Amino acid sequence: MNAGAPPPVAERWWRTHDSGDGVTLLVEAHITPMLESNVWHVRGHDADLVVDTANGIGKLRPAIDRLAGDRPVIAIATHGHFDHVGGLSEFDDRRCHEADADETRAPFAVRIERDDQPAGVDDMFAYYGFEVPERTIAAVPHEGFDTGAWVAPGARPTGFVADGDVLDLGDRRIEVLHVPGHTPGSIGLWEAATGLLFSGDTVYVDGRLGYDDLEAAEASLRRLSALPVRRVHGGHDRSFDGDELELVLDGLLNGGLEAL
Ligand SMILES: [Zn+2]
Ligand SMILES: [Zn+2]
Repeated sequence: MNAGAPPPVAERWWRTHDSGDGVTLLVEAHITPMLESNVWHVRGHDADLVVDTANGIGKLRPAIDRLAGDRPVIAIATHGHFDHVGGLSEFDDRRCHEADADETRAPFAVRIERDDQPAGVDDMFAYYGFEVPERTIAAVPHEGFDTGAWVAPGARPTGFVADGDVLDLGDRRIEVLHVPGHTPGSIGLWEAATGLLFSGDTVYVDGRLGYDDLEAAEASLRRLSALPVRRVHGGHDRSFDGDELELVLDGLLNGGLEAL
């Protein structure tokens, strides 16, 4: 492929998957695997919840509006990394933990073209076992999209969530767990009634995990290990069950924790 040729226009930016329990997964279909992250739409009776918003290259809001209809939408970032807060600014009600507020407003300024990437991108990709691609996307979200002008967008939160807060969707109650470690303001979202845990980057499977505070991470992971989890929807990779969570947490808590 000629690197100088403009990428094609994507027919659809989002790939969606029904994950059961009224939960839909949305993933950017044309982004390099390293930056592929999970957006979770949770359907409620009175309000819907969006957990993370990916990179913010193609618009997320229209895809969520198709799922949410007239219901209000609470958009929440599990932490302030650029690949989770990119679409947050598209929502009227946008929240994060206060400890990640600065990063949510001004995330690491990743670009699309390799020649434009800021210092540190090589190391970041290398940590997760990837090389920096010529371009981070294989298609553009719409006609006229300028791959040279795009910079990972931040969002000004309209509210903060803290440990113990409950997000009330009418028929569903989802509890905020402050689980620092991957970042200072990382949160998990826990629905006791269904045993669903939205874990962000605190724990997922297949990909390499990293923590900026190992001591905090250890305490957070111990806390998660005490929950009767049925299914985990992480910030990246596939969903998994409580037994696999136990295995992953055992590994991490027995010498497997790595500093970012
Ligand atoms: Zn992260
Ligand atoms: Zn991530």
